[in-house]
Parts: sequence; structure tokens; C-alpha cells
Amino acid sequence: MNRLPSFGRYPPVHQQSGRRVSFHHEAALGTDDSSALPRGNGCSYGDCCLNESGTLLLGRPCNRLLAFDAKSGVLRCEAGTTLEEIIDFALPQGFFLPVTPGTRLVTVGGAIANDVHGKNHHAAGTFGCHVLRFKLWRSDRRPMLCTPQQKDGWFGATVAGLGLTGWVGWVDIQLLRVANPFMVVEEHPFGSLEEFFALSSASDRDFDYTVAWVDCLAPARSRGRGILWRANHAPPLAKGSSGIRWQAAIPWELPFPAVGARRIRAFNALYYHWKRLRPTTRLAHYKGFFYPLDHIAHWNRLYGPRGFLQLQCVLPHGHATFVIHELLERCATQGMGSFLAVLKVFGERASPGWLSFPRPGVTLALDVPHQGSQTIAALRAFYTLIHEAGGAIYPAKDALMTKEQFQAAYPRWAELAARRDPAISSSLWRRVSA
Ligand SMILES: Cc1cc2nc3c(=O)[nH]c(=O)nc-3n(C[C@H](O)[C@H](O)[C@H](O)COP(=O)(O)OP(=O)(O)OC[C@H]3O[C@@H](n4cnc5c(N)ncnc54)[C@H](O)[C@@H]3O)c2cc1C
Repeated sequence: MNRLPSFGRYPPVHQQSGRRVSFHHEAALGTDDSSALPRGNGCSYGDCCLNESGTLLLGRPCNRLLAFDAKSGVLRCEAGTTLEEIIDFALPQGFFLPVTPGTRLVTVGGAIANDVHGKNHHAAGTFGCHVLRFKLWRSDRRPMLCTPQQKDGWFGATVAGLGLTGWVGWVDIQLLRVANPFMVVEEHPFGSLEEFFALSSASDRDFDYTVAWVDCLAPARSRGRGILWRANHAPPLAKGSSGIRWQAAIPWELPFPAVGARRIRAFNALYYHWKRLRPTTRLAHYKGFFYPLDHIAHWNRLYGPRGFLQLQCVLPHGHATFVIHELLERCATQGMGSFLAVLKVFGERASPGWLSFPRPGVTLALDVPHQGSQTIAALRAFYTLIHEAGGAIYPAKDALMTKEQFQAAYPRWAELAARRDPAISSSLWRRVSA
């Protein structure tokens, strides 16, 4: 039975129970649980939020906003608070998230445990760069206050620590001052990866947010084509529309995937040409710019009962062009890939977590419908190529990384293992550390 699945619904889980946690001290790990795992909102695609044969500590009820300094923009909230709840509270007071992933449904606990990144990585680094302190509850000792200044290592172990070091109770975050809910957004088509790199590096100088969509099923002559968006928060007095004209939901899991390669290829080509003919500069509402996917609730159900996998990797600059070309080539010839293929150049700002995924280089993310063993075999071959090029796979999106690949890409994994709470484990951790 697939209860409490991950967002990608792969791998399926068979035996897993959930226990709601309403106050931090209830997380008291290791009481009667053989192995427990903190859970946020289950927005991770793979198995870092799964615990086969164990218990999930369901943290969403811990979503109280505890304190806010409207002068400095420092917010204290419980770790089960979602980014959406923070925006709803802080934006009317002139503050926004310093870093946000592509959905506002993730919790602060999940954002810390995967040290998530956003479209402004080149300017602002990861979410963990803006965390001032948090309280960590462990089964084997008293709760600890963790700050980046402390030399004891608990901050660096817990940020991107995959939920393994303990239960994050509450968090202080430095929010970003903004004038209004709008973004000034420019769209620029590009015809090749080389053009993308030139455009991205020119844009990173003047724009806080840059990200690109790439047509992963384009024909050989157009391989690497796509659209780059670059944006800044709008200045005071800018006035746009709410931008939220519709909200839809996929009510059930479809009995078969609605997203085959032929449909995706046609959609991608239409989308690219439509955007190429009408490059625009516009004032966009933040919801449309940061969270287009949140307009369709449960869109993951489109992939049918087998679900889908997401591959997100980061490649060192020296190998990025070759490997991304090769991955796009394989996607196109094997009919793999999706509407959702995203390219971004990460910046130089160091991530605070020992196991943070973002690092200088180029990141590519691709959704791949799960069509059986051939999908898994093809993805494993992608992983080998990325590993051999010195790249890393993002654990938040992963269900297939081997122990060797994980340990090579995250050399401080053994230090995290030494800090793991003995009462905590996850399906991902058992796969990559055993
Ligand atoms: C549509 C979509 C777009 C996305 N875009 C991006 C993106 O742009 N950038 C990016 O970086 N990621 C992105 N993600 C991935 C997502 O941001 C991460 O997987 C995030 O960690 C999910 O948070 P969650 O609250 O759902 O936590 P879960 O998925 O439930 O758990 C994630 C991890 O957090 C740990 N955890 C949760 N709560 C606590 C706690 N209280 N204490 C300790 N550990 C805890 C869990 O143990 C687990 O290891 C995207 C996901 C989706 C679905």
C-alpha cells in the first residue's frame, strides 16, 4: 500500500506508518519507534522523505509563527510552517522569502533538510544561507540551539542533513525586504546551449533571478534551444494584476500516464516557437513567476500509477556543455523527458550544509515518466555519465543513486553518519550509506 508516498510516487512504499507531531517535544524520537523520520510536506520526489518499514513523524501541525521583527525582517516559526504560510504573513508587511524553490508548499524543515535553492542561487546562495538559528531535538540528548557561528558543527550537519540529525523544532529566518508582490520579468529565447551560457552569464550580473527551460526533445539541429527568464523584484509603485486568474486540480490519479513522448515533443515545439515570436518584458505576480506549477494541484497524478522520476544534477563548468549535450541527445533519441526541463548556472556562494547539493557549476533538472525497467536502466546510465564527469545528483529528487555515487559527490557523508540521531533513518539513507 502506497501510503504517504513521495511527490514522484517512486519508489512505492509498502509498510510505513505516520505519527502526527503537534509540539516539538512530542518528536521525542526513539521512544517506541524502531526507526523514525521527520516528514515535512512530502514534496521531495524520491525516497529522502520515505522510511520503508519505519515511522514518519508528520510535522505539518507544528506550523506556528512564533515571533516577527518588522524592522529587521527576522521571523521565528516552527519547522512545519510552509513557505506559503510565511509569504501570506510577511508579504503584506513588505517581506518575502530570501530563497524559494519552485513550489511554496514545502515546509521550513524540508527546506533546511535539503538546503533548497531557487532561481536566485547566483545572487543569494541556498535557503540555509539565510537561516540564523534553529532548535534541534534529538533522542539522545537535550535540545540544542544551532547557529552558523558555532564551531560544534551541528548547524552544518543539519542544513542539508536529510532530516537525519534530529527534529528541527523552530527556526529563525532572515526575510528579504520587497516593495510589492510583483516581479519585472524578461523572456529571452536561445537557440543552443552555447547561447544559453552567454545569455545566462550576461543576465546574472544585473538580475537577481535567472532560470531557463530547455526543450529536451528538440530535433538534432535545434538541440539545446529554450527560453531564459530573468527578473528582479519590482520597484515601489509598480502595479500589476493579481495574476492568479485560475487554479486547477487533478482530482484522481490517472490510470495511465497522460504525458507520452509524442505529446511532449509537440507541446515543447509549440511552446518554444510561441515564446520565440513574442519575447516579452512584463510585470508578473510573484505566484506566476516563482510557482507556475502550484496552479495545478496534484499535477503529479498526470504521470499515472507508476509515477515519475526527476533527475537533477549539477556539473562542474569544465564538463557541463558536453554532458548536458549528451543527456539531451539521449533524451531525444530515447523519447525520454518532459515539459519540465530546467537549466540554471549556480553561483559561487558557499552552501552552509556539509551535504548541500548546490555548488559552482550548471544544474539540469528533468522529469521522466516511469515507464518500467527501461526508464530505470536509461536513468542509471545518465547517473554514470554524471558521476564520471565529477557531477552530483540532488538527494531531494533522487531514488536511484548508488552508494559509490553518493559518497563521491558528498565526501562529508561519513561526518553526517557520525551525527545521525540513532533513532532516525530513511529509505534513502539505508540505500546510500549501508
Ligand atoms: C514542484 C516542485 C518544485 C521544486 N522545486 C525545487 C527547487 O526549485 N529547488 C529545490 O531545491 N528543491 C525543489 N523542490 C524539492 C523540494 O524543495 C524539497 O524536496 C524539499 O525538501 C521538500 O520539503 P518538504 O517540506 O515537502 O519535506 P519532505 O519532502 O517531507 O522531507 C524532506 C526532508 O526534510 C526532512 N524534514 C522535514 N521536516 C523536518 C524537521 N522538522 N526536522 C528535520 N528534518 C525535517 C525530512 O526528513 C526529509 O529528509 C521542488 C519540489 C516540487 C514538488
